Amino acid sequence: MTGRHKTCRFALIHLGTDEVYGLEYVAAEVKKCGHRIRWFDANEESAVEAVVAWEADYLCLSPLSAFFDSGLEFSRRVKALAPSVHSIFGGHHVTAVPESAELDGVDTVVVGPVYGAIERIVAGDDAGVLRGEPVPVSEMMPARREYFDTIPSIGGRHRKEIISHFGCPYNCSYCSTSRLKAEYGGKEYRKYWLTRRPIEHIIEEAKILLDYPTEEVALEDDDMLYGTEIDEWLPKFTAAWKREVGLPIFGNVTPNTVVKVSDQTMDTLAELVTVVQMGVQAARKSTLKLFNRQFQNEAQVAEAVNRLKKHGVPVKLELIVGAPVDDPVGDALDTVKLAQRVAAGGFATAFPLMLYPGTALHKWCLENNVPLREDCTFDFYSGIGSVEFPPAIQRKITTITKLASFFVKYNVDERWMRVLLDMDLTDAAAKSASEAAYYESLRFRLGEKVDQEFEEILAKTHFRYKS
Ligand code: SF4
Repeated sequence: MTGRHKTCRFALIHLGTDEVYGLEYVAAEVKKCGHRIRWFDANEESAVEAVVAWEADYLCLSPLSAFFDSGLEFSRRVKALAPSVHSIFGGHHVTAVPESAELDGVDTVVVGPVYGAIERIVAGDDAGVLRGEPVPVSEMMPARREYFDTIPSIGGRHRKEIISHFGCPYNCSYCSTSRLKAEYGGKEYRKYWLTRRPIEHIIEEAKILLDYPTEEVALEDDDMLYGTEIDEWLPKFTAAWKREVGLPIFGNVTPNTVVKVSDQTMDTLAELVTVVQMGVQAARKSTLKLFNRQFQNEAQVAEAVNRLKKHGVPVKLELIVGAPVDDPVGDALDTVKLAQRVAAGGFATAFPLMLYPGTALHKWCLENNVPLREDCTFDFYSGIGSVEFPPAIQRKITTITKLASFFVKYNVDERWMRVLLDMDLTDAAAKSASEAAYYESLRFRLGEKVDQEFEEILAKTHFRYKS
Protein backbone atom coordinates (compact mmCIF):
# COMPACT_ATOMS: atom_id res chain seq x y z
CA MET A 1 0.00 0.00 0.00
CA THR A 2 1.28 3.42 -0.79
CA GLY A 3 -0.58 6.33 0.73
CA ARG A 4 -2.61 8.11 -1.95
CA HIS A 5 -2.72 11.04 0.42
CA LYS A 6 0.41 12.59 1.82
CA THR A 7 -1.39 12.43 5.06
CA CYS A 8 -2.89 8.95 5.19
CA ARG A 9 -6.42 8.12 6.27
CA PHE A 10 -6.91 5.51 8.96
CA ALA A 11 -10.40 4.14 9.41
CA LEU A 12 -10.85 2.86 12.98
CA ILE A 13 -13.54 0.24 13.24
CA HIS A 14 -15.86 -0.10 16.22
CA LEU A 15 -16.94 -3.73 16.49
CA GLY A 16 -19.30 -5.36 18.95
CA THR A 17 -21.10 -3.81 21.90
CA ASP A 18 -18.24 -2.72 24.17
CA GLU A 19 -15.82 0.14 23.90
CA VAL A 20 -12.71 -0.92 21.99
CA TYR A 21 -10.40 0.79 24.43
CA GLY A 22 -7.12 -0.40 22.91
CA LEU A 23 -7.99 1.16 19.57
CA GLU A 24 -8.17 4.56 21.26
CA TYR A 25 -4.41 4.29 21.88
CA VAL A 26 -4.00 3.42 18.21
CA ALA A 27 -6.06 6.51 17.33
CA ALA A 28 -3.71 8.69 19.39
CA GLU A 29 -0.62 7.12 17.84
CA VAL A 30 -1.93 7.54 14.29
CA LYS A 31 -2.61 11.22 14.96
CA LYS A 32 0.82 11.64 16.54
CA CYS A 33 2.33 10.23 13.35
CA GLY A 34 0.57 13.01 11.42
CA HIS A 35 -2.25 11.04 9.82
CA ARG A 36 -6.02 11.37 9.88
CA ILE A 37 -8.43 9.14 11.71
CA ARG A 38 -12.15 8.54 11.49
CA TRP A 39 -14.26 6.06 13.43
CA PHE A 40 -16.83 3.82 11.75
CA ASP A 41 -19.41 1.62 13.44
CA ALA A 42 -19.28 -1.86 11.90
CA ASN A 43 -22.71 -2.52 13.40
CA GLU A 44 -24.20 -0.11 10.87
CA GLU A 45 -25.23 -1.43 7.47
CA SER A 46 -23.64 1.46 5.61
CA ALA A 47 -20.25 1.28 7.37
CA VAL A 48 -18.40 -0.56 4.57
CA GLU A 49 -19.54 1.94 1.94
CA ALA A 50 -18.77 4.82 4.30
CA VAL A 51 -15.16 3.64 4.75
CA VAL A 52 -14.76 3.35 0.98
CA ALA A 53 -16.41 6.73 0.35
CA TRP A 54 -14.01 8.36 2.83
CA GLU A 55 -11.18 6.91 0.71
CA ALA A 56 -9.50 5.27 3.66
CA ASP A 57 -5.95 4.08 3.09
CA TYR A 58 -5.82 1.87 6.15
CA LEU A 59 -8.34 -0.06 8.15
CA CYS A 60 -7.59 -0.61 11.85
CA LEU A 61 -9.35 -3.34 13.78
CA SER A 62 -8.73 -4.68 17.26
CA PRO A 63 -11.35 -7.39 17.65
CA LEU A 64 -11.75 -9.58 20.68
CA SER A 65 -11.88 -13.27 19.79
CA ALA A 66 -15.69 -13.05 19.90
CA PHE A 67 -15.66 -10.50 17.11
CA PHE A 68 -12.68 -11.63 15.08
CA ASP A 69 -14.77 -13.26 12.36
CA SER A 70 -16.99 -10.18 12.09
CA GLY A 71 -13.87 -8.02 11.81
CA LEU A 72 -12.47 -10.26 9.09
CA GLU A 73 -15.74 -10.18 7.19
CA PHE A 74 -15.83 -6.39 7.46
CA SER A 75 -12.29 -6.10 6.14
CA ARG A 76 -13.02 -8.44 3.22
CA ARG A 77 -16.08 -6.44 2.26
CA VAL A 78 -14.12 -3.18 2.29
CA LYS A 79 -11.28 -4.70 0.28
CA ALA A 80 -13.72 -6.17 -2.25
CA LEU A 81 -14.86 -2.62 -3.04
CA ALA A 82 -11.48 -0.94 -2.56
CA PRO A 83 -8.65 -3.48 -2.99
CA SER A 84 -5.90 -0.97 -2.17
CA VAL A 85 -7.12 -0.49 1.39
CA HIS A 86 -4.56 -2.03 3.75
CA SER A 87 -6.04 -3.77 6.76
CA ILE A 88 -4.23 -3.80 10.11
CA PHE A 89 -5.34 -6.10 12.91
CA GLY A 90 -4.09 -5.65 16.48
CA GLY A 91 -5.11 -6.51 20.03
CA HIS A 92 -5.12 -9.59 22.26
CA HIS A 93 -6.63 -12.03 19.79
CA VAL A 94 -4.12 -11.57 16.98
CA THR A 95 -1.27 -11.23 19.48
CA ALA A 96 -2.22 -14.74 20.62
CA VAL A 97 -2.77 -15.92 17.04
CA PRO A 98 -0.36 -13.98 14.79
CA GLU A 99 -0.89 -16.56 12.05
CA SER A 100 -4.11 -14.62 11.41
CA ALA A 101 -1.88 -12.56 9.07
CA GLU A 102 -2.19 -15.38 6.54
CA LEU A 103 -5.96 -15.02 6.29
CA ASP A 104 -7.59 -13.40 3.31
CA GLY A 105 -8.63 -9.94 4.49
CA VAL A 106 -5.67 -9.37 6.83
CA ASP A 107 -2.65 -7.46 5.50
CA THR A 108 -0.76 -6.77 8.71
CA VAL A 109 -0.99 -8.17 12.22
CA VAL A 110 0.53 -6.01 14.94
CA VAL A 111 1.63 -8.11 17.89
CA GLY A 112 1.75 -6.23 21.21
CA PRO A 113 1.46 -2.46 21.41
CA VAL A 114 1.02 -0.25 18.34
CA TYR A 115 4.10 1.89 18.92
CA GLY A 116 6.55 1.93 16.03
CA ALA A 117 4.20 -0.05 13.79
CA ILE A 118 2.35 2.82 12.09
CA GLU A 119 5.52 4.40 10.67
CA ARG A 120 6.71 1.03 9.38
CA ILE A 121 3.41 0.20 7.72
CA VAL A 122 3.10 3.60 6.07
CA ALA A 123 6.72 3.30 4.88
CA GLY A 124 5.67 0.12 3.06
CA ASP A 125 6.92 -2.59 5.43
CA ASP A 126 4.97 -5.52 4.12
CA ALA A 127 5.95 -8.09 6.74
CA GLY A 128 2.66 -9.75 7.57
CA VAL A 129 3.42 -9.69 11.29
CA LEU A 130 4.95 -6.65 12.97
CA ARG A 131 6.00 -6.55 16.59
CA GLY A 132 5.06 -3.29 18.28
CA GLU A 133 7.60 -1.71 20.61
CA PRO A 134 6.50 -0.96 24.16
CA VAL A 135 6.94 2.63 25.31
CA PRO A 136 6.89 4.01 28.87
CA VAL A 137 3.36 4.30 30.19
CA SER A 138 3.94 8.02 30.69
CA GLU A 139 3.91 8.31 26.90
CA MET A 140 0.67 6.43 26.44
CA MET A 141 -2.54 8.42 26.26
CA PRO A 142 -5.65 7.34 24.35
CA ALA A 143 -7.67 9.61 22.02
CA ARG A 144 -11.26 9.12 23.19
CA ARG A 145 -13.33 12.12 22.12
CA GLU A 146 -13.55 11.29 18.41
CA TYR A 147 -14.76 7.80 19.30
CA PHE A 148 -17.40 9.04 21.72
CA ASP A 149 -18.55 11.76 19.30
CA THR A 150 -18.78 9.45 16.29
CA ILE A 151 -20.21 6.30 17.88
CA PRO A 152 -23.14 7.37 20.08
CA SER A 153 -23.67 3.88 21.52
CA ILE A 154 -20.22 4.23 23.13
CA GLY A 155 -20.17 7.95 23.94
CA GLY A 156 -23.64 7.73 25.44
CA ARG A 157 -23.33 4.53 27.43
CA HIS A 158 -23.65 4.75 31.18
CA ARG A 159 -20.46 2.83 31.89
CA LYS A 160 -17.00 3.80 30.64
CA GLU A 161 -13.63 2.36 31.42
CA ILE A 162 -10.14 3.47 32.37
CA ILE A 163 -6.91 1.74 33.28
CA SER A 164 -3.93 2.48 35.51
CA HIS A 165 -1.64 -0.28 34.27
CA PHE A 166 -1.87 -2.66 31.35
CA GLY A 167 -0.62 -5.94 32.75
CA CYS A 168 -1.43 -8.72 35.13
CA PRO A 169 0.91 -10.34 37.64
CA TYR A 170 -0.75 -13.77 37.31
CA ASN A 171 -0.45 -16.43 34.67
CA CYS A 172 -3.81 -18.17 34.41
CA SER A 173 -3.54 -20.96 31.88
CA TYR A 174 -6.63 -19.78 29.96
CA CYS A 175 -5.43 -16.19 29.58
CA SER A 176 -3.57 -14.59 26.69
CA THR A 177 -1.38 -12.61 29.11
CA SER A 178 1.15 -15.45 29.06
CA ARG A 179 1.59 -14.94 25.31
CA LEU A 180 2.63 -11.31 25.82
CA LYS A 181 4.98 -12.28 28.65
CA ALA A 182 6.60 -14.89 26.43
CA GLU A 183 6.94 -12.42 23.54
CA TYR A 184 8.50 -9.57 25.53
CA GLY A 185 10.06 -11.35 28.52
CA GLY A 186 9.39 -10.88 32.23
CA LYS A 187 11.65 -7.85 32.67
CA GLU A 188 10.08 -5.85 29.85
CA TYR A 189 6.62 -6.95 30.92
CA ARG A 190 7.15 -5.63 34.44
CA LYS A 191 8.67 -2.41 33.16
CA TYR A 192 6.01 -1.56 30.59
CA TRP A 193 2.89 -3.49 31.50
CA LEU A 194 3.00 -3.57 35.28
CA THR A 195 4.05 0.01 35.86
CA ARG A 196 1.25 2.43 36.66
CA ARG A 197 0.49 5.43 34.48
CA PRO A 198 1.05 8.84 36.07
CA ILE A 199 -2.00 9.75 38.15
CA GLU A 200 -2.34 13.11 36.40
CA HIS A 201 -2.65 11.30 33.04
CA ILE A 202 -5.41 9.04 34.32
CA ILE A 203 -7.26 12.02 35.76
CA GLU A 204 -6.83 14.08 32.59
CA GLU A 205 -8.25 11.17 30.61
CA ALA A 206 -11.11 10.62 33.07
CA LYS A 207 -12.18 14.25 32.89
CA ILE A 208 -13.21 13.61 29.27
CA LEU A 209 -15.80 11.17 30.60
CA LEU A 210 -17.47 14.04 32.47
CA ASP A 211 -18.42 15.59 29.12
CA TYR A 212 -20.44 12.49 28.21
CA PRO A 213 -23.33 10.79 29.98
CA THR A 214 -21.24 8.59 32.27
CA GLU A 215 -22.69 7.08 35.44
CA GLU A 216 -19.93 4.68 36.45
CA VAL A 217 -16.35 3.94 35.52
CA ALA A 218 -14.74 0.51 35.44
CA LEU A 219 -11.10 0.61 36.50
CA GLU A 220 -10.05 -2.23 34.23
CA ASP A 221 -6.74 -3.08 35.93
CA ASP A 222 -6.70 -6.84 36.23
CA ASP A 223 -5.83 -6.40 39.88
CA MET A 224 -6.15 -2.84 41.15
CA LEU A 225 -4.36 -3.73 44.41
CA TYR A 226 -1.31 -5.12 42.68
CA GLY A 227 2.13 -3.72 43.38
CA THR A 228 4.43 -2.93 46.27
CA GLU A 229 3.73 0.78 45.86
CA ILE A 230 -0.03 0.33 46.37
CA ASP A 231 -0.07 1.79 49.90
CA GLU A 232 1.37 5.00 48.53
CA TRP A 233 -0.36 5.05 45.14
CA LEU A 234 -3.95 4.33 46.14
CA PRO A 235 -4.41 7.26 48.57
CA LYS A 236 -2.95 9.69 46.03
CA PHE A 237 -5.11 8.33 43.24
CA THR A 238 -8.22 8.25 45.41
CA ALA A 239 -7.77 11.86 46.53
CA ALA A 240 -7.25 13.05 42.95
CA TRP A 241 -10.20 11.01 41.63
CA LYS A 242 -12.59 12.28 44.28
CA ARG A 243 -11.47 15.88 43.89
CA GLU A 244 -11.36 16.06 40.11
CA VAL A 245 -13.61 13.35 38.69
CA GLY A 246 -15.95 12.10 41.38
CA LEU A 247 -17.68 9.46 39.26
CA PRO A 248 -18.55 6.14 40.93
CA ILE A 249 -15.81 3.66 40.17
CA PHE A 250 -15.53 -0.10 40.43
CA GLY A 251 -12.48 -2.29 40.07
CA ASN A 252 -11.07 -5.79 39.97
CA VAL A 253 -9.15 -7.41 42.79
CA THR A 254 -7.85 -10.90 43.53
CA PRO A 255 -8.03 -12.79 46.85
CA ASN A 256 -4.24 -12.93 46.82
CA THR A 257 -3.82 -9.15 47.13
CA VAL A 258 -6.90 -8.44 49.25
CA VAL A 259 -5.49 -10.57 52.06
CA LYS A 260 -2.07 -8.91 51.83
CA VAL A 261 -2.57 -5.14 51.59
CA SER A 262 -2.61 -2.95 54.68
CA ASP A 263 -5.75 -1.94 56.62
CA GLN A 264 -5.14 1.61 55.52
CA THR A 265 -5.19 0.54 51.85
CA MET A 266 -8.44 -1.35 52.47
CA ASP A 267 -9.97 1.79 53.97
CA THR A 268 -8.83 3.83 50.99
CA LEU A 269 -10.28 1.20 48.66
CA ALA A 270 -13.60 1.56 50.46
CA GLU A 271 -13.49 5.33 49.93
CA LEU A 272 -12.74 4.97 46.23
CA VAL A 273 -14.92 2.18 44.88
CA THR A 274 -18.59 1.38 44.99
CA VAL A 275 -17.92 -2.34 44.45
CA VAL A 276 -15.15 -4.71 43.40
CA GLN A 277 -15.15 -7.87 41.30
CA MET A 278 -12.99 -10.72 42.51
CA GLY A 279 -12.04 -13.73 40.42
CA VAL A 280 -12.53 -16.94 42.41
CA GLN A 281 -12.83 -19.15 39.33
CA ALA A 282 -12.82 -22.67 40.83
CA ALA A 283 -13.05 -24.61 44.07
CA ARG A 284 -11.41 -27.97 43.47
CA LYS A 285 -7.64 -28.09 43.90
CA SER A 286 -7.23 -30.08 40.69
CA THR A 287 -9.19 -27.49 38.70
CA LEU A 288 -7.25 -24.61 40.24
CA LYS A 289 -4.06 -26.44 39.23
CA LEU A 290 -5.36 -26.84 35.68
CA PHE A 291 -6.05 -23.08 35.67
CA ASN A 292 -2.57 -22.37 37.12
CA ARG A 293 -4.18 -20.70 40.11
CA GLN A 294 -3.00 -23.16 42.74
CA PHE A 295 -1.79 -20.27 44.92
CA GLN A 296 -5.43 -19.80 45.89
CA ASN A 297 -7.62 -21.80 48.26
CA GLU A 298 -10.97 -21.50 49.99
CA ALA A 299 -9.49 -20.14 53.22
CA GLN A 300 -7.85 -17.32 51.29
CA VAL A 301 -11.04 -16.52 49.36
CA ALA A 302 -13.07 -16.51 52.60
CA GLU A 303 -10.53 -14.26 54.27
CA ALA A 304 -10.59 -11.88 51.31
CA VAL A 305 -14.41 -11.73 51.26
CA ASN A 306 -14.52 -11.11 55.02
CA ARG A 307 -11.87 -8.45 54.81
CA LEU A 308 -13.72 -6.64 52.05
CA LYS A 309 -16.96 -6.88 54.04
CA LYS A 310 -15.28 -5.63 57.20
CA HIS A 311 -14.01 -2.59 55.33
CA GLY A 312 -17.40 -1.96 53.72
CA VAL A 313 -16.48 -2.92 50.14
CA PRO A 314 -19.23 -4.88 48.36
CA VAL A 315 -17.74 -7.73 46.33
CA LYS A 316 -18.98 -9.62 43.32
CA LEU A 317 -17.45 -13.07 42.88
CA GLU A 318 -16.61 -14.38 39.42
CA LEU A 319 -16.64 -18.11 38.77
CA ILE A 320 -15.63 -20.27 35.82
CA VAL A 321 -17.54 -23.42 34.91
CA GLY A 322 -17.21 -25.96 32.11
CA ALA A 323 -13.61 -27.01 32.78
CA PRO A 324 -12.09 -30.01 30.96
CA VAL A 325 -12.43 -32.36 33.95
CA ASP A 326 -14.03 -35.78 34.47
CA ASP A 327 -17.07 -34.46 36.30
CA PRO A 328 -17.73 -30.96 34.92
CA VAL A 329 -21.18 -30.57 36.52
CA GLY A 330 -19.96 -31.67 39.97
CA ASP A 331 -16.94 -29.41 39.55
CA ALA A 332 -19.16 -26.44 38.63
CA LEU A 333 -21.51 -27.09 41.55
CA ASP A 334 -18.54 -27.31 43.92
CA THR A 335 -17.48 -23.88 42.68
CA VAL A 336 -20.99 -22.48 43.23
CA LYS A 337 -21.08 -24.06 46.70
CA LEU A 338 -17.76 -22.41 47.57
CA ALA A 339 -19.28 -19.05 46.61
CA GLN A 340 -22.29 -19.87 48.79
CA ARG A 341 -20.07 -20.79 51.74
CA VAL A 342 -18.03 -17.63 51.59
CA ALA A 343 -20.62 -15.15 50.34
CA ALA A 344 -24.19 -16.49 50.52
CA GLY A 345 -26.67 -13.66 49.98
CA GLY A 346 -24.07 -11.81 47.91
CA PHE A 347 -23.57 -11.52 44.22
CA ALA A 348 -21.71 -13.98 42.00
CA THR A 349 -21.57 -14.65 38.28
CA ALA A 350 -20.46 -17.82 36.52
CA PHE A 351 -18.92 -17.75 33.05
CA PRO A 352 -18.21 -20.67 30.76
CA LEU A 353 -14.52 -21.44 30.26
CA MET A 354 -13.33 -19.74 27.06
CA LEU A 355 -10.05 -20.98 25.66
CA TYR A 356 -8.36 -18.44 23.51
CA PRO A 357 -6.10 -19.92 20.87
CA GLY A 358 -2.46 -19.79 21.84
CA THR A 359 -3.10 -20.03 25.58
CA ALA A 360 -1.50 -22.74 27.73
CA LEU A 361 -4.80 -24.46 28.52
CA HIS A 362 -5.85 -24.45 24.86
CA LYS A 363 -2.58 -26.20 24.01
CA TRP A 364 -3.08 -28.62 26.91
CA CYS A 365 -6.54 -29.53 25.60
CA LEU A 366 -5.16 -30.17 22.11
CA GLU A 367 -2.34 -32.33 23.51
CA ASN A 368 -4.78 -34.29 25.68
CA ASN A 369 -7.39 -34.75 22.97
CA VAL A 370 -10.02 -32.74 24.82
CA PRO A 371 -12.71 -32.00 22.24
CA LEU A 372 -13.14 -28.26 21.67
CA ARG A 373 -16.18 -26.60 20.16
CA GLU A 374 -15.83 -24.93 16.80
CA ASP A 375 -18.93 -22.85 17.48
CA CYS A 376 -17.71 -21.15 20.67
CA THR A 377 -18.35 -17.46 19.99
CA PHE A 378 -16.40 -16.23 23.05
CA ASP A 379 -19.55 -14.55 24.21
CA PHE A 380 -19.40 -14.72 28.02
CA TYR A 381 -23.16 -14.51 28.33
CA SER A 382 -23.98 -17.29 25.85
CA GLY A 383 -23.42 -20.04 28.43
CA ILE A 384 -21.36 -21.87 25.81
CA GLY A 385 -17.65 -22.27 26.43
CA SER A 386 -14.80 -23.86 24.51
CA VAL A 387 -14.88 -27.43 25.80
CA GLU A 388 -17.24 -29.73 23.98
CA PHE A 389 -19.43 -31.76 26.34
CA PRO A 390 -22.16 -34.29 25.57
CA PRO A 391 -25.44 -32.34 25.04
CA ALA A 392 -26.98 -33.32 28.40
CA ILE A 393 -23.88 -32.11 30.28
CA GLN A 394 -23.67 -28.93 28.20
CA ARG A 395 -27.28 -28.10 29.03
CA LYS A 396 -26.48 -28.30 32.74
CA ILE A 397 -23.31 -26.21 32.40
CA THR A 398 -25.26 -23.57 30.47
CA THR A 399 -28.00 -23.60 33.11
CA ILE A 400 -25.41 -23.11 35.87
CA THR A 401 -24.06 -20.03 34.08
CA LYS A 402 -27.60 -18.65 33.85
CA LEU A 403 -28.61 -19.44 37.43
CA ALA A 404 -25.40 -19.09 39.45
CA SER A 405 -26.31 -15.58 40.63
CA PHE A 406 -29.65 -16.93 41.87
CA PHE A 407 -28.04 -19.99 43.49
CA VAL A 408 -25.59 -17.85 45.45
CA LYS A 409 -27.84 -14.94 46.32
CA TYR A 410 -30.55 -17.26 47.69
CA ASN A 411 -28.14 -19.93 48.95
CA VAL A 412 -30.03 -22.67 47.10
CA ASP A 413 -29.42 -26.14 48.48
CA GLU A 414 -27.54 -28.55 46.20
CA ARG A 415 -30.57 -30.85 45.99
CA TRP A 416 -32.66 -28.00 44.53
CA MET A 417 -29.85 -26.85 42.27
CA ARG A 418 -29.73 -30.35 40.80
CA VAL A 419 -33.52 -30.33 40.34
CA LEU A 420 -33.26 -27.12 38.32
CA LEU A 421 -30.39 -28.53 36.28
CA ASP A 422 -32.59 -31.46 35.30
CA MET A 423 -35.17 -29.11 33.80
CA ASP A 424 -34.90 -27.91 30.21
CA LEU A 425 -33.98 -24.26 29.99
CA THR A 426 -36.14 -22.93 27.17
CA ASP A 427 -35.08 -19.90 25.14
CA ALA A 428 -37.64 -17.80 27.01
CA ALA A 429 -36.30 -18.97 30.37
CA ALA A 430 -32.70 -18.37 29.27
CA LYS A 431 -33.65 -14.84 28.22
CA SER A 432 -35.44 -14.12 31.50
CA ALA A 433 -32.54 -15.57 33.51
CA SER A 434 -30.01 -13.41 31.62
CA GLU A 435 -32.13 -10.32 32.20
CA ALA A 436 -32.59 -11.13 35.89
CA ALA A 437 -28.83 -11.67 36.34
CA TYR A 438 -28.14 -8.41 34.52
CA TYR A 439 -30.61 -6.62 36.78
CA GLU A 440 -28.91 -8.08 39.87
CA SER A 441 -25.54 -7.01 38.52
CA LEU A 442 -26.65 -3.41 37.89
CA ARG A 443 -28.53 -3.15 41.17
CA PHE A 444 -25.50 -4.48 42.99
CA ARG A 445 -23.31 -1.78 41.44
CA LEU A 446 -25.67 1.15 41.13
CA GLY A 447 -28.25 0.57 43.87
CA GLU A 448 -31.97 1.19 43.91
CA LYS A 449 -32.02 3.81 41.18
CA VAL A 450 -31.67 0.95 38.69
CA ASP A 451 -35.26 -0.02 39.48
CA GLN A 452 -36.53 3.03 37.61
CA GLU A 453 -34.07 2.80 34.72
CA PHE A 454 -33.81 -0.92 34.15
CA GLU A 455 -36.37 -1.25 31.36
CA GLU A 456 -34.71 1.58 29.46
CA ILE A 457 -31.23 0.08 29.94
CA LEU A 458 -32.55 -3.31 28.87
CA ALA A 459 -34.01 -1.88 25.67
CA LYS A 460 -30.51 -0.67 24.70
CA THR A 461 -28.82 -3.97 25.56
CA HIS A 462 -28.57 -6.74 23.01
CA PHE A 463 -28.18 -10.07 24.79
CA ARG A 464 -27.41 -13.18 22.84
CA TYR A 465 -29.61 -15.80 24.42
CA LYS A 466 -29.02 -19.48 24.28
CA SER A 467 -30.76 -22.19 26.19
S1 SF4 B 1 -5.98 -12.77 36.64
FE1 SF4 B 1 -7.16 -12.32 34.76
S2 SF4 B 1 -5.80 -11.08 33.46
FE2 SF4 B 1 -4.54 -12.05 35.05
S3 SF4 B 1 -3.69 -13.89 34.12
FE3 SF4 B 1 -5.58 -14.46 35.23
S4 SF4 B 1 -7.23 -14.27 33.69
FE4 SF4 B 1 -5.43 -13.20 32.89
